[in-house]
Amino acid sequence: MWCWVTAISASETGGLKPPHPRPIGILGGTFDPIHHGHLRPALELLETLDLAEIRFIPCRIPAHRGTPQLTAEQRLTLVRLAMRGQPGFVADDRELQRAGPSFMVDTLASLREDFREQPLCLIIGSDAFRNLHTWHRWQELSQFAHIVVMRRPGALQPFAAALEKFIAPRRIDDACALRHQLAGAILFQPVTQLDISATQIRALLARGHSPRFLLPETALAYIHDRALYRSPPILAPITS
Ligand code: ATP
Repeated sequence: MWCWVTAISASETGGLKPPHPRPIGILGGTFDPIHHGHLRPALELLETLDLAEIRFIPCRIPAHRGTPQLTAEQRLTLVRLAMRGQPGFVADDRELQRAGPSFMVDTLASLREDFREQPLCLIIGSDAFRNLHTWHRWQELSQFAHIVVMRRPGALQPFAAALEKFIAPRRIDDACALRHQLAGAILFQPVTQLDISATQIRALLARGHSPRFLLPETALAYIHDRALYRSPPILAPITS
């Protein structure tokens, strides 16, 4: 079996050029709406991991949760507005072009088609990562990309046994190693802890309170102009 421990970092090779170009970061999410808890950690990863770019990919139909309050197009617009002017941030609409649930394994396969020679880094918050073993074809994810886990306030450890078993042979501590292989490593990378969630922002807006300073002004202006998230979602009646 391939073993990550055999990988050699740039520092260990006396600064020899790594074999691959700078990796591409991939941050998938519902982004209902996007907020500073996504943006600030992403910027830190862009810089600390020396990524070529980070592609923010809103899902069309979330595979593991209820229907978002905004349409996929509205959430994509918010992503575009929020990242405006930030070099290295890219809004990627590929999940909006695909029918059916937005499975990450399909997204990574399509990214691998587009970027054959570049390492891919799937960025996941630690809360989402702890459920990775429930994702569709989850064990195939590392065939397409590295996984970078950013710690999120409140997220608990330890992980499920199946996930621990998955992590053990893939775990790396040196971010330089991300450029020595196109995929397959798992890195736990500290980021500034911002206890912000889209749930909290939706709840504030539904109550008529302001979520100002939790998300970019550009995104908030769009939300206010269209009176979005004004009332709690209307739940479908339960039929027995
Ligand atoms: P919701 O509150 O509706 O569940 P959310 O705020 O968790 O939404 P998502 O769009 O579901 O936002 O998150 C996309 C990705 O960003 C996930 O991997 C999630 O773990 C991560 N993430 C979201 N908020 C934070 C945060 N404050 N710090 C670190 N990671 C985060």
